[in-house]
Amino acid sequence: MRVVVTGGAGFLGSHLSALLRGRGDQVICVDNFSTGRRENLDALLGDPGFTLIEADVTEGLEIPGRVDAVAHLASPASPPDYHRLPLETLAVGSRGTEYGLRLAARNQARFVLASTSEVYGDPVVHPQREDYWGNVNPVGPRSVYDEAKRYAEAVTMAYHRTYDLDVGIVRIFNTYGPRMRPQDGRVVTSFITQALVGDPLTIYGDGEQTRSFCYVDDLVAGIVAMIDGDVTGPVNLGNPVEWTVGRLASEILRITESSSTIERYPLPTDDPTRRRPDITLARRLLGWEPVVPVEEGLRRTVEWFRSRPEELLAAAPSLAGAQPGGVLLS
Ligand code: NAD
Ligand code: UDP
Repeated sequence: MRVVVTGGAGFLGSHLSALLRGRGDQVICVDNFSTGRRENLDALLGDPGFTLIEADVTEGLEIPGRVDAVAHLASPASPPDYHRLPLETLAVGSRGTEYGLRLAARNQARFVLASTSEVYGDPVVHPQREDYWGNVNPVGPRSVYDEAKRYAEAVTMAYHRTYDLDVGIVRIFNTYGPRMRPQDGRVVTSFITQALVGDPLTIYGDGEQTRSFCYVDDLVAGIVAMIDGDVTGPVNLGNPVEWTVGRLASEILRITESSSTIERYPLPTDDPTRRRPDITLARRLLGWEPVVPVEEGLRRTVEWFRSRPEELLAAAPSLAGAQPGGVLLS
């Protein structure tokens, strides 16, 4: 297959591109490096089956030659990134998605949208099944991301219904692993970076809020299953093992053997109190489920971070209170 991966220089996109190349697909990555890094693609640059196009997908998406599938991953994804890039986030979820859909339609290719568990907002149904419509604040600070992805799902379904375009929507839950940026402000990267440099771990709120963390290798295998199949979805992809943020902090301190302390900051506005995917559909329709236990995935991620001490030292000072209005409480 010849697959276009938008956002291919990012965390998930670079792992997805590597997996597709590994099985012999041709990959064309389109990325503007707003939150991605060229070095994520070091192993692929120079590979004749891999093409990197530096471009902003909100300005159009023209790819010469046949295209068999478009995987649309381009979008800022960490809360500090989309707070910093609010209009860009809305643009890539709306215009960027539509350009991806048009490219797929011109080629009669399959279009796979990387949506998110954030479409469920602060969920009142738990665990989250795909038929839950969500609880999103349309004017809150997270809305630039949540509503962009909800619109992206809507426009994807409109192309499916109007043009009979072959589409698939995956709703991705919190994913972690090598190649995340230490300064991206997400909880796994912040805690690992802080534990390794000996800074206090910054817990927002009481640490009782939950997330369900999926290792990147598992997650991208689910995206590939979606690319290969004919399921429209939406289908949740994530690890149903649910942890509190406090437990995550303890596990990371244990794995890193760090003596870092804990500092508490206010919970950011509209921060979801709990999140856990129901993956019944993914199991049944895609034959997919995660296989890497969280402790093992964290160990692998810690090893990767440990090999980059300068980067961690440079990132650490920016992490304390990385969320808007972050004030040290204790
Ligand atoms: P990331 O920030 O590492 O990657 C996003 C990539 O998109 C970056 O390389 C960035 O430069 C690129 N990009 C952004 N805007 C662009 C534009 N206008 N044109 C071209 N490229 C652009 O984030 P990630 O964690 O790899 O997330 C990838 C996708 O998966 C996103 O769509 C995100 O919403 C979704 N997702 C991720 C997670 C997660 O836990 N990682 C969870 C839910 C959904
Ligand atoms: N969080 C935290 N400390 C940090 C970063 C995040 O306690 O340094 C919390 C955050 O408030 C949220 C959870 O960890 O409750 C997951 O945050 P992340 O930004 O990783 O992802 P998302 O909120 O998008 O799920």
